[in-house]
Amino acid sequence: MRERCADAMSIFAKYGAPHLFMTFTANPKWPEITENLRPSEHTTDRPDLLARVFNLKLKSLMDDPTVQGTLGKSTAQVYTIEFQKRGLPHAHILIVLRAADKFSTSEHIDKFVRAEIPSPIENLRLHEIVTKCLMHGPCGIENPGTFCMEAGQCKKMFPKEFRTETTMNVSVYPFVSQMPK
Ligand SMILES: [Zn+2]
Repeated sequence: MRERCADAMSIFAKYGAPHLFMTFTANPKWPEITENLRPSEHTTDRPDLLARVFNLKLKSLMDDPTVQGTLGKSTAQVYTIEFQKRGLPHAHILIVLRAADKFSTSEHIDKFVRAEIPSPIENLRLHEIVTKCLMHGPCGIENPGTFCMEAGQCKKMFPKEFRTETTMNVSVYPFVSQMPK
């Protein structure tokens, strides 16, 4: 582990600080998993199947910036995989992009990143994925028992303010535009 951590630090010393941080979690409802369970089996009975499917999908996801250049061409990438308490593998990914593809303007960010709920009429499947897998909460005063709540406040600072425009920020994440539909 120490050797790999030192390797990662050397990679960033040579190629520069990463531009993208992505997280990727296994979904026990992926059809590649559910279709291969035996009749009385539950996903928790098959960590081998879960890990294999996760690994294949992670490889395909990593091809996007490295081979396809979907988010821009990457010059270096590093990831770690951790197994959460319920056994779901989860990857934290850092990607360095070549200078020409760096996310340096809000227009560039808007081309790839959205903080909006897609319209259920225009794209029902995407609407369902976003509302099921990508939304935080509900937390706040009405749900004080949620895991993210501490001393009456959400530790992850949700809900975020609505914004009409994406703005760059020097020291923290950019503020991506998000408006109620
Ligand atoms: Zn919260």
